[in-house]
Amino acid sequence: MPQPQLQFAHSDSESSAGYIAATSASEANAADNAAAVIVDPGPEVVDAWRSEAGVAGDNRPSEKTEVHCLEGQLDRTYLFATDGDGLILIDQHAAHERVIFDRLMQTLRPDNSQLLVIPETMELNYRQYKMASEKIPVFKSLGYDLEPFGGKTIVIRAVPVIRGISDHKPLLLDLIEQLLATERFNNPKEIQEAFLITMSCRAAVKAGDRLANLEKEQLLSDLWKTRNPYTCPHGRPTMIRLSRDELDRRFRRK
Ligand SMILES: [Zn+2]
Repeated sequence: MPQPQLQFAHSDSESSAGYIAATSASEANAADNAAAVIVDPGPEVVDAWRSEAGVAGDNRPSEKTEVHCLEGQLDRTYLFATDGDGLILIDQHAAHERVIFDRLMQTLRPDNSQLLVIPETMELNYRQYKMASEKIPVFKSLGYDLEPFGGKTIVIRAVPVIRGISDHKPLLLDLIEQLLATERFNNPKEIQEAFLITMSCRAAVKAGDRLANLEKEQLLSDLWKTRNPYTCPHGRPTMIRLSRDELDRRFRRK
Protein backbone atom coordinates (compact mmCIF):
# COMPACT_ATOMS: atom_id res chain seq x y z
CA MET A 1 0.00 0.00 0.00
CA PRO A 2 1.53 3.36 -0.95
CA GLN A 3 2.19 5.69 1.95
CA PRO A 4 2.93 9.40 1.88
CA GLN A 5 6.66 10.06 1.96
CA LEU A 6 7.21 12.61 4.69
CA GLN A 7 10.34 14.67 4.86
CA PHE A 8 12.24 14.50 8.12
CA ALA A 9 13.09 17.96 9.40
CA HIS A 10 16.63 18.49 10.63
CA SER A 11 15.85 22.10 11.45
CA ASP A 12 16.97 23.58 14.75
CA SER A 13 14.04 25.98 14.83
CA GLU A 14 11.52 26.00 17.66
CA SER A 15 8.88 24.55 15.41
CA SER A 16 11.03 21.61 14.34
CA ALA A 17 8.85 18.50 14.30
CA GLY A 18 11.45 15.81 13.77
CA TYR A 19 9.82 12.86 15.45
CA ILE A 20 6.24 13.51 14.38
CA ALA A 21 7.36 14.29 10.82
CA ALA A 22 8.83 10.80 10.68
CA THR A 23 5.54 9.40 11.94
CA SER A 24 2.23 9.09 10.13
CA ALA A 25 -0.65 11.42 10.91
CA SER A 26 -2.75 8.70 12.51
CA GLU A 27 0.11 7.76 14.79
CA ALA A 28 0.63 11.41 15.66
CA ASN A 29 -2.98 11.59 16.83
CA ALA A 30 -2.26 8.75 19.21
CA ALA A 31 0.11 11.11 21.02
CA ASP A 32 -2.91 12.46 22.86
CA ASN A 33 -2.94 9.24 24.84
CA ALA A 34 0.81 8.97 25.14
CA ALA A 35 1.45 10.81 28.39
CA ALA A 36 1.10 7.59 30.34
CA VAL A 37 2.01 4.21 28.93
CA ILE A 38 1.88 0.78 30.48
CA VAL A 39 5.16 -1.09 30.66
CA ASP A 40 4.77 -4.75 29.88
CA PRO A 41 8.03 -5.89 28.30
CA GLY A 42 7.25 -9.61 28.47
CA PRO A 43 9.19 -12.27 30.39
CA GLU A 44 11.94 -12.96 27.85
CA VAL A 45 12.82 -9.28 27.60
CA VAL A 46 12.87 -8.87 31.36
CA ASP A 47 15.19 -11.87 31.64
CA ALA A 48 17.49 -10.39 29.02
CA TRP A 49 17.47 -7.12 30.91
CA ARG A 50 18.26 -8.83 34.21
CA SER A 51 21.08 -10.85 32.78
CA GLU A 52 22.71 -7.85 31.14
CA ALA A 53 26.08 -7.20 32.75
CA GLY A 54 26.18 -4.30 35.16
CA VAL A 55 22.44 -3.69 35.22
CA ALA A 56 21.05 -4.26 38.67
CA GLY A 57 17.56 -5.68 39.00
CA ASP A 58 16.08 -2.45 40.35
CA ASN A 59 17.61 -0.32 37.59
CA ARG A 60 14.95 -1.08 35.03
CA PRO A 61 11.39 0.24 35.01
CA SER A 62 9.20 -2.19 36.90
CA GLU A 63 6.80 -4.32 34.92
CA LYS A 64 3.32 -3.01 34.15
CA THR A 65 3.98 0.42 35.53
CA GLU A 66 3.07 3.80 34.08
CA VAL A 67 5.88 5.82 32.58
CA HIS A 68 5.49 9.58 32.25
CA CYS A 69 7.55 11.82 30.04
CA LEU A 70 9.10 14.75 31.92
CA GLU A 71 9.91 18.27 30.73
CA GLY A 72 13.25 19.03 29.20
CA GLN A 73 15.89 17.51 26.98
CA LEU A 74 19.58 17.26 27.91
CA ASP A 75 21.83 18.60 25.16
CA ARG A 76 19.12 17.62 22.64
CA THR A 77 20.28 14.04 23.18
CA TYR A 78 18.65 12.61 26.29
CA LEU A 79 15.03 12.66 27.41
CA PHE A 80 13.68 12.34 30.93
CA ALA A 81 10.87 10.16 32.20
CA THR A 82 9.68 8.66 35.46
CA ASP A 83 7.84 5.53 36.43
CA GLY A 84 6.94 7.11 39.76
CA ASP A 85 9.68 5.30 41.64
CA GLY A 86 12.72 6.14 39.58
CA LEU A 87 14.21 8.60 37.12
CA ILE A 88 14.67 7.28 33.58
CA LEU A 89 17.12 8.82 31.11
CA ILE A 90 16.44 7.94 27.49
CA ASP A 91 18.81 8.20 24.52
CA GLN A 92 16.51 9.67 21.86
CA HIS A 93 18.43 8.29 18.88
CA ALA A 94 18.75 4.77 20.29
CA ALA A 95 15.08 4.79 21.31
CA HIS A 96 13.90 5.91 17.88
CA GLU A 97 16.18 3.34 16.22
CA ARG A 98 14.43 0.60 18.18
CA VAL A 99 10.99 1.91 17.19
CA ILE A 100 11.86 2.11 13.48
CA PHE A 101 13.67 -1.24 13.47
CA ASP A 102 10.66 -3.07 14.91
CA ARG A 103 8.38 -1.32 12.43
CA LEU A 104 10.62 -2.22 9.49
CA MET A 105 10.82 -5.84 10.65
CA GLN A 106 7.04 -6.00 10.37
CA THR A 107 6.53 -4.05 7.18
CA LEU A 108 9.59 -4.41 4.97
CA ARG A 109 8.77 -6.73 2.10
CA PRO A 110 9.46 -6.69 -1.62
CA ASP A 111 5.96 -5.27 -2.18
CA ASN A 112 6.44 -2.46 0.35
CA SER A 113 8.08 -0.53 -2.42
CA GLN A 114 7.37 2.68 -4.28
CA LEU A 115 8.11 3.16 -7.94
CA LEU A 116 10.03 6.32 -8.71
CA VAL A 117 8.16 8.43 -11.26
CA ILE A 118 11.49 9.30 -12.80
CA PRO A 119 14.08 6.54 -12.25
CA GLU A 120 17.30 7.84 -10.72
CA THR A 121 20.82 6.89 -11.65
CA MET A 122 23.71 6.50 -9.26
CA GLU A 123 27.37 6.57 -10.20
CA LEU A 124 29.40 3.99 -8.26
CA ASN A 125 33.02 2.94 -8.14
CA TYR A 126 33.93 -0.42 -9.64
CA ARG A 127 33.76 -2.44 -6.38
CA GLN A 128 30.43 -0.90 -5.40
CA TYR A 129 28.99 -1.49 -8.86
CA LYS A 130 30.10 -5.13 -8.91
CA MET A 131 28.64 -5.78 -5.46
CA ALA A 132 25.34 -4.04 -6.22
CA SER A 133 24.98 -5.94 -9.49
CA GLU A 134 25.63 -9.28 -7.81
CA LYS A 135 23.20 -8.63 -4.94
CA ILE A 136 20.21 -7.34 -6.88
CA PRO A 137 17.90 -10.08 -5.46
CA VAL A 138 18.92 -9.09 -1.91
CA PHE A 139 18.01 -5.48 -2.59
CA LYS A 140 14.80 -6.67 -4.25
CA SER A 141 13.80 -8.43 -1.03
CA LEU A 142 14.00 -5.05 0.72
CA GLY A 143 11.92 -3.18 -1.85
CA TYR A 144 14.68 -1.83 -4.11
CA ASP A 145 14.40 -2.27 -7.86
CA LEU A 146 17.92 -1.78 -9.18
CA GLU A 147 19.28 -2.35 -12.64
CA PRO A 148 22.88 -2.25 -13.84
CA PHE A 149 23.02 0.40 -16.54
CA GLY A 150 26.52 -0.27 -17.81
CA GLY A 151 29.71 1.58 -17.08
CA LYS A 152 29.56 1.96 -13.31
CA THR A 153 26.05 3.39 -13.25
CA ILE A 154 23.09 1.77 -11.55
CA VAL A 155 19.45 2.71 -12.19
CA ILE A 156 17.12 2.97 -9.20
CA ARG A 157 13.55 2.23 -10.32
CA ALA A 158 11.89 1.64 -6.94
CA VAL A 159 12.80 2.15 -3.28
CA PRO A 160 11.39 0.80 0.00
CA VAL A 161 8.86 2.98 1.80
CA ILE A 162 10.68 4.20 4.91
CA ARG A 163 9.31 7.11 6.88
CA GLY A 164 11.94 9.71 7.61
CA ILE A 165 14.01 8.96 4.52
CA SER A 166 13.43 11.03 1.40
CA ASP A 167 16.87 10.86 -0.22
CA HIS A 168 17.56 7.19 -0.80
CA LYS A 169 20.98 7.42 -2.41
CA PRO A 170 23.06 7.89 0.77
CA LEU A 171 21.27 4.96 2.41
CA LEU A 172 21.73 2.74 -0.64
CA LEU A 173 25.42 3.63 -0.72
CA ASP A 174 25.65 2.76 3.01
CA LEU A 175 24.10 -0.63 2.33
CA ILE A 176 26.44 -1.40 -0.56
CA GLU A 177 29.46 -0.34 1.53
CA GLN A 178 28.21 -2.51 4.37
CA LEU A 179 28.19 -5.52 2.06
CA LEU A 180 31.72 -4.69 0.92
CA ALA A 181 33.08 -4.10 4.40
CA THR A 182 32.00 -7.34 5.98
CA GLU A 183 32.34 -10.98 5.22
CA ARG A 184 30.42 -12.20 8.22
CA PHE A 185 27.13 -12.40 6.33
CA ASN A 186 26.34 -15.98 5.48
CA ASN A 187 22.67 -15.88 4.65
CA PRO A 188 20.11 -13.42 3.28
CA LYS A 189 18.41 -13.14 6.67
CA GLU A 190 21.60 -11.83 8.28
CA ILE A 191 22.08 -9.35 5.47
CA GLN A 192 18.50 -8.20 5.76
CA GLU A 193 18.77 -7.66 9.51
CA ALA A 194 22.01 -5.71 9.13
CA PHE A 195 20.35 -3.60 6.44
CA LEU A 196 17.34 -2.89 8.64
CA ILE A 197 19.66 -1.68 11.41
CA THR A 198 21.40 0.68 9.00
CA MET A 199 18.05 1.93 7.70
CA SER A 200 16.81 2.51 11.25
CA CYS A 201 19.95 4.45 12.12
CA ARG A 202 19.57 6.64 9.02
CA ALA A 203 15.89 7.37 9.61
CA ALA A 204 16.05 7.96 13.39
CA VAL A 205 16.19 11.37 15.03
CA LYS A 206 19.77 12.28 15.84
CA ALA A 207 21.48 13.54 18.95
CA GLY A 208 21.19 17.30 18.52
CA ASP A 209 17.62 17.25 17.17
CA ARG A 210 15.22 19.28 19.26
CA LEU A 211 12.03 17.39 20.08
CA ALA A 212 8.73 19.02 21.01
CA ASN A 213 6.85 17.70 24.05
CA LEU A 214 4.35 15.89 21.85
CA GLU A 215 7.17 14.18 19.97
CA LYS A 216 8.88 13.05 23.17
CA GLU A 217 5.65 11.55 24.46
CA GLN A 218 5.01 9.83 21.15
CA LEU A 219 8.54 8.43 21.04
CA LEU A 220 8.24 7.12 24.58
CA SER A 221 4.84 5.59 23.86
CA ASP A 222 6.11 3.96 20.66
CA LEU A 223 9.24 2.69 22.43
CA TRP A 224 7.25 0.89 25.09
CA LYS A 225 5.18 -0.87 22.47
CA THR A 226 8.29 -2.49 20.98
CA ARG A 227 9.33 -6.03 21.79
CA ASN A 228 12.52 -4.95 23.54
CA PRO A 229 12.41 -1.29 24.57
CA TYR A 230 15.61 -1.54 26.59
CA THR A 231 18.19 -1.81 23.81
CA CYS A 232 18.62 -0.40 20.32
CA PRO A 233 19.07 -2.89 17.46
CA HIS A 234 22.86 -2.51 17.80
CA GLY A 235 22.52 -3.77 21.38
CA ARG A 236 23.25 -0.50 23.15
CA PRO A 237 20.96 0.62 25.99
CA THR A 238 18.09 2.96 25.13
CA MET A 239 17.62 3.99 28.75
CA ILE A 240 19.20 4.18 32.18
CA ARG A 241 17.07 4.14 35.31
CA LEU A 242 18.02 5.63 38.65
CA SER A 243 15.80 4.10 41.30
CA ARG A 244 14.50 6.02 44.28
CA ASP A 245 16.73 3.84 46.49
CA GLU A 246 19.76 4.70 44.40
CA LEU A 247 18.97 8.43 44.65
CA ASP A 248 18.48 8.14 48.42
CA ARG A 249 21.84 6.42 48.73
CA ARG A 250 23.59 9.07 46.67
CA PHE A 251 22.03 11.88 48.69
CA ARG A 252 22.99 9.93 51.83
CA ARG A 253 19.45 9.75 53.05
CA LYS A 254 20.11 6.09 53.80
ZN1 LIG B 1 21.93 1.68 17.76
